[in-house]
Amino acid sequence: MKLRVTVLGAGFGGLELSTILSEAIGDQLDLTLIDQNDSFFFGFSKLDVMFGHKPSNAVKIPYSSVIKNGVNFRKETIIDIDPVTKTVTTTTGKYEADVLVVALGANYDFAATPGLTTWGNEYYSFSGAEKLRDVLPQFTKGNAVVGVCSAPFKCPPAPSEAALMLHDYLTSRGVRDSCSISLVIPFGLPIPPSPDSSKALLKAFEERNIRFIPERKVSSVGENKSVILDDGTELPCDLLLGVPKHVAPDVVLQSGLAENGWIPVDKANLRTKFPNVYAIGDVTSVGTPKAGVFAEGAAKIAAASIIAEFHGKENNTPYTGAGSCYIEFGKGQVARVDVDFFSGPKPFGIHHEASPELVIDKVHFGSSRKARWFGN
Ligand SMILES: Cc1cc2nc3c(=O)[nH]c(=O)nc-3n(C[C@H](O)[C@H](O)[C@H](O)COP(=O)(O)OP(=O)(O)OC[C@H]3O[C@@H](n4cnc5c(N)ncnc54)[C@H](O)[C@@H]3O)c2cc1C
Repeated sequence: MKLRVTVLGAGFGGLELSTILSEAIGDQLDLTLIDQNDSFFFGFSKLDVMFGHKPSNAVKIPYSSVIKNGVNFRKETIIDIDPVTKTVTTTTGKYEADVLVVALGANYDFAATPGLTTWGNEYYSFSGAEKLRDVLPQFTKGNAVVGVCSAPFKCPPAPSEAALMLHDYLTSRGVRDSCSISLVIPFGLPIPPSPDSSKALLKAFEERNIRFIPERKVSSVGENKSVILDDGTELPCDLLLGVPKHVAPDVVLQSGLAENGWIPVDKANLRTKFPNVYAIGDVTSVGTPKAGVFAEGAAKIAAASIIAEFHGKENNTPYTGAGSCYIEFGKGQVARVDVDFFSGPKPFGIHHEASPELVIDKVHFGSSRKARWFGN
């Protein structure tokens, strides 16, 4: 009998988990990988699209190239998840499984921030980044704000990266002196677990005349070229690069899997409270930031548990919540922070200074995943 696994979502977590299971038990595997999209893209590619570094079709990787032993990809939208019977309903079919893995990521609630998409812009959705690619060339003077509307949000360094890259973009067009840049984030430091990464970022902001506004969120965006922060402060704003409020997909919220907005899991093995139902990545409240590297790390541990159980054993390697995040500093420099959330008494991060070498490292990070998941 083959092991029937249904993997919901072919993002960072779903792709890594499917790859590991295929490599380990492909001949005994009947895995269905479901995603509503026809292609994958890395989160960081939205920055490339927004600043016009790459066209959209250059960063999209079609799922048709996922050809793995024991894995079938289905481009379908999931409309119901029954975690008790492990039955999943899509717009075109029904899937029953021995093991269910929920890796549906985080969606955005644009309406939670009045005016965000009417008077401002967001760059966290692919279409938002594409829209900004056309808006940015029209911005030649005035006040730009990179602003986070709510926490948690994906990739905590991404707002800092956007502010630094915006500085480069405006400088290269010769209009930087006519523009101000402010960065609004809900933390006291740009990257709270790493004081050294935060220090390097704060120095970079100072050198580039980027105003850092910590411990604040954008509450609304006004027609009168301003944003209102959560303490009532009004900031002049001619251009907003917003980070919208994140929410679990509706189908997850309606499934009974979520509590307080996200899926709680056993931090050691990524199991939900339903037998043989795992959840990995951004859709969980496991306690790591919402980022691809952590979704990938969680996938490794969930896959190890599924394989061990299939062989009648137990996986004794717990999830450490460790991962490396790259940070774009602009000017052709990338830094890295290696963070570990669960091994010590509190999360800690080790900073690696921005350098051209780490640019190559980051390129390899993307190309190695692409090769591993898509075989090219
Ligand atoms: C601007 C930006 C920069 C980033 N930079 C980095 C970075 O440098 N490093 C890093 O590690 N992370 C980065 N991230 C974060 C990273 O993209 C996410 O955290 C990561 O993709 C999460 O993986 P996941 O598997 O949990 O979910 P996702 O990769 O989001 O995958 C979820 C999948 O589920 C599918 N789905 C959702 N609902 C349904 C449904 N109803 N039916 C069918 N399919 C559905 C979606 O289409 C999606 O493909 C960045 C994000 C952004 C926005």
